[in-house]
Amino acid sequence: MNKKTLMIVTVLVFAVIVAAIVILNKQLEKTDQEQNAGKEVSIKNQPTIGDPDAPVTIVEFGDYKCPGCAGWSESIYPKLKKDYIDTGKVKFAFINVLFHGPESLLASLASESVYNQDPEAFWDFHDALFAAQPTNQQHDEQWVTPDLLLDIAKEHAPNIDLDQLKKDIVEQGTLAAVEMDNQLVTEHNIKSTPSIIVNGVLVNEPFDYEALKALIEKGLK
Ligand code: CA
Repeated sequence: MNKKTLMIVTVLVFAVIVAAIVILNKQLEKTDQEQNAGKEVSIKNQPTIGDPDAPVTIVEFGDYKCPGCAGWSESIYPKLKKDYIDTGKVKFAFINVLFHGPESLLASLASESVYNQDPEAFWDFHDALFAAQPTNQQHDEQWVTPDLLLDIAKEHAPNIDLDQLKKDIVEQGTLAAVEMDNQLVTEHNIKSTPSIIVNGVLVNEPFDYEALKALIEKGLK
């Protein structure tokens, strides 16, 4: 084999390897998407707003401590509620994610307690908790505390037993519900928050309302 032939063979072998890697990656991507598509999330015993018979189900995997979730709750959720939840086309459920540590856990324990005690009041409490998130919080700044959670509940879930809420937070009385959420996070391979799932399909760009609308409209057909 002369030098030139050797070079051509080397280039060809290299090209084949690159092509193989590209094809393999594409297949892996496809498998990921296939895994996401059509895998309905169980919303049994989860706080759910909207008509129970609505044709489209949206699940948010969210974390009260997560700035992106507070942003989504403020910028996208109100539109979604007005256009689709209030009109009976979509029912919406929230599942806790604990990606931000002890404060995520505190907030989740409290939200499960409010939900247990007064499911109707849950959404007021939920919205108020996201709204209470400091807008320019430092990454490690603590703001979720039992006192803050009790204060929010006092105002937004006035019919619940605050002693019970305190117990559920401090003694982790609602831990089983939080652990159930955590199992769903694992089962559905949730990697980031907010993860928005429309009829079993993970939305790639949760902040792109038009893309979200397109997925909903597809589900309504
Ligand atoms: Ca839950």
